[in-house]
Amino acid sequence: MQRRFLVGIDLGGTNCRMALVDGQGRVCRRERFSSRDFDHVDGLMAKIEVICREFEIAVRGAGGEIVALGAGVPGLVDYQGKVMVAPNLSWLNGVDFSARLAELGQWSVRVINDANAIAWGEHAWGAVRDNSSFLAVTLGTGVGGGLVLGGRLWVGSDGAAGEFGHVVVEPDGRPCRCGSRGCLEQYASATGILRSVREELVQGRRSSLESLDADALTALAVGRAAREGDALALDVLNEAGRRLGQGLAMIANVLNPEAVVICGGVSLSLDLMRPSLDGELSRRAFEVSARRLRIVAGELGDDAGILGAAHIAGCTDALWP
Ligand SMILES: [Zn+2]
Repeated sequence: MQRRFLVGIDLGGTNCRMALVDGQGRVCRRERFSSRDFDHVDGLMAKIEVICREFEIAVRGAGGEIVALGAGVPGLVDYQGKVMVAPNLSWLNGVDFSARLAELGQWSVRVINDANAIAWGEHAWGAVRDNSSFLAVTLGTGVGGGLVLGGRLWVGSDGAAGEFGHVVVEPDGRPCRCGSRGCLEQYASATGILRSVREELVQGRRSSLESLDADALTALAVGRAAREGDALALDVLNEAGRRLGQGLAMIANVLNPEAVVICGGVSLSLDLMRPSLDGELSRRAFEVSARRLRIVAGELGDDAGILGAAHIAGCTDALWP
């Protein structure tokens, strides 16, 4: 039998990454290009096609075939794989991206939201491979979410499910880009954490972070300072963990899932956020749900989305209903 390969696309607002993946989730080849080079979907499709042809040549050389092509997109994607809104790639709005990818070859195609792709990657080959019901939370520039229930991705009636970053943790809190106030994203994303640091510095608190210029002041730097005992950095991560715990207590009470997998750059500081996170969970969630909930960091790093997109494209029945 021919060896079967998958192709995953992780389309971001800045970069697009593509990978050729084997049946065990190993990346055999990868490509990366700027998604800012395009202002129309045709240009992107031409670039993707060139890379797909290169992948096909490599696969044939190994006596195999490409059977599926999947993509994760930063925006709202409907059940059929049409991009409804992609705020950072507005030229994709309304594009039936799934249909465009299907034109490139005789393979099965799936287009999903990028946070859903990360969730599925960790389910297929990562930290929650033994769990059939979990929430994946991506802590990056924003906060995203992907929900797997009973072994299938729940994308919602309109593809808009899993927006965990916009649960309210402070009713009259910081204004959010979604139009609401006090969303979790405003406190637990990298952007929210840096805002908290700046607010504390403006108040006159002393910290090793005050010597950093704007480019060097990142969520990673906050984590590093906290590990070196910086009190301000510790307080800010403590607060982010507390907010995250409030949000997760709601999830635990509503869905009673087996696990939560925390992904994205801020997840590197998960251990520093755990004490306050766990405290909120035990205070606010039903005991049986809190006890059940396993909270883990993602294992696949930056490859979670690309692997999830590739894997889910080769699955039938991966989405509810
Ligand atoms: Zn919001």
